[in-house]
Amino acid sequence: MRASQFFISTLKEAPADADITSQKLMIRAGFIRKHAAGIYSWMPMGLRVVRKVENIIREEMNRAGALELSLPVVQPAELWQETGRWDAMGAELLRFKDRHERDFALQPTAEEVITDIARRELRSYRALPKSFYQIQTKFRDERRPRFGVMRGREFTMKDAYSFDRSADDAGKSYENMYAAYRRIFDRMGLTYRAVAADTGAIGGDRSHEFQVIADTGEDAIIYCPTSEYAANIELAEALAPAGERPAASAALSKVHTPKVKTIAELVDFLKIDIKQTVKAVVVEGEQGDAVLMLVRGDHELNEVKAQKVAGIKNPLTFASPAAIRAAFGANPGSLGPVGFQGRVIADRTVAKMADFVIGANEDDQHYTGANFGRDCAEPEVLDIRNVVAGDLSPDGKGVLAIQRGIEVGHVFYLGTKYSAAMNATFLDEDGKPKPFEMGCYGIGVTRILGAAIEQNYDDKGMIWPDAIAPFSVVICPVGYDRSEAVKEAADKLYAELAARGADVILDDRGERPGAMFADWELIGAPHRVTIGDRGLKEGKVEYQQRRDAEATAVAADAILEHIV
Ligand code: ATP
Ligand code: MG
Ligand code: MG
Ligand code: MG
Repeated sequence: MRASQFFISTLKEAPADADITSQKLMIRAGFIRKHAAGIYSWMPMGLRVVRKVENIIREEMNRAGALELSLPVVQPAELWQETGRWDAMGAELLRFKDRHERDFALQPTAEEVITDIARRELRSYRALPKSFYQIQTKFRDERRPRFGVMRGREFTMKDAYSFDRSADDAGKSYENMYAAYRRIFDRMGLTYRAVAADTGAIGGDRSHEFQVIADTGEDAIIYCPTSEYAANIELAEALAPAGERPAASAALSKVHTPKVKTIAELVDFLKIDIKQTVKAVVVEGEQGDAVLMLVRGDHELNEVKAQKVAGIKNPLTFASPAAIRAAFGANPGSLGPVGFQGRVIADRTVAKMADFVIGANEDDQHYTGANFGRDCAEPEVLDIRNVVAGDLSPDGKGVLAIQRGIEVGHVFYLGTKYSAAMNATFLDEDGKPKPFEMGCYGIGVTRILGAAIEQNYDDKGMIWPDAIAPFSVVICPVGYDRSEAVKEAADKLYAELAARGADVILDDRGERPGAMFADWELIGAPHRVTIGDRGLKEGKVEYQQRRDAEATAVAADAILEHIV
């Protein structure tokens, strides 16, 4: 690709309503354009990444034996009524009527439609097992669309569904998908954890989420650094009911139960107008006091209202230094970013809304706490519960710690929930009809872009892992329009790289070097080759990986081997 023939549209500033780094960078780099809350266009540069993500997913789904199909975005209400989800889904399901006054919905997921297909097509046990998948537009009318494409309303999801004869076989399909998910996220070069997840309203007893580790994640993961144990915090709590917890844990939870149970109660206690605030921070002091601070403005502590409430003792150890710096580092008059002690006080809703954990040391007193999100105008949903950082891991192999994560994938054993409700059966060997044993498996295709950026960026822009970069190599000729030697060397390298199958772009726009480099740093191309007259005179070009502080001179005739 030549840049002059591509569409590059970068911005110096992100719009004021962009609320997270990845969204800012995607808008600035010309990946996306916003039209309404949670509704975006994918521009050519961004779409290249989407396609790469999709291709990796498609390859691994095919390798796992799943069959690609395409289900309708517009789905009839009748199918959703069969499972009761027409009512149960609430406002997240976007509904409308056609010209004949019939009810329809935009697909937020597709269990109903795929089960309808299975009951019509998979008649006999001989047709099983079968797994189908689609990579398709979904619509969820999210209550709070935010963070750009990470919590969009219209987004792309890969959703797969497995149909089996027995629960045992369904377990094998689940394992198969789980392994495929690992390959997918490994290939994308992301740092992630597979965590046990709550099976919630869908029921069933097996569910794992794939969480990309990032301080800005909406989910809290509790994990054991010295063993395989990892769970979404909601489940970590569910897995460790007071009576069954390891002794250390039970003892700690007693100490940590605050007298005030909800943020609403705290707010009431403190007589603070929570609607005026942007965030609430619950901190607990070493002296056995919990402090609720309501912070106005963006990370501004100068309007803090703080007061001691309820006795809480013995902070425990966990940390997120980067988050601490992000929250308070830029604010000299505030709590210093030094201590990482304590535990989060959060409930499942709060845990999801929490942005980061803070810690601080003032006057030699340790404080710590959790930020309960940007928008605390909904105190009714906030309900404090204990989180178990510092507890013994349920497998007994270490002490639990907390990390924030972004849910990019979810695998779910469904059992016969949908097949039973929709009377979807096959004839088994004994001639009797049996409901399918099902599983469902989602990946947030477009959310992955946001998550990858949240994990890989610096002050210049995005830093893409090779496998999903919009372009993996950019050739930046200095004076392409002025110097024959430069043009010739750049064209030659471009042709050679392209011939070897490298995903290369030649920046022939004739931009000034500074502007050209800034663009590619913002876009995050992992490899850059700079070609200029001065270097060529010595037979050299410059090579720089996106994470390198400086370029390295490389012999012009060796650069090809250097890259591919
Ligand atoms: P969340 O907890 O973030 O709301 P979910 O549990 O509702 O996600 P699933 O029903 O498990 O989502 O859907 C499968 C995948 O689709 C999720 O793991 C996530 O990566 C992606 N996804 C869900 N909602 C959105 C959204 N609003 N925007 C972008 N991707 C989404
Ligand atoms: Mg959701
Ligand atoms: Mg979820
Ligand atoms: Mg989920």
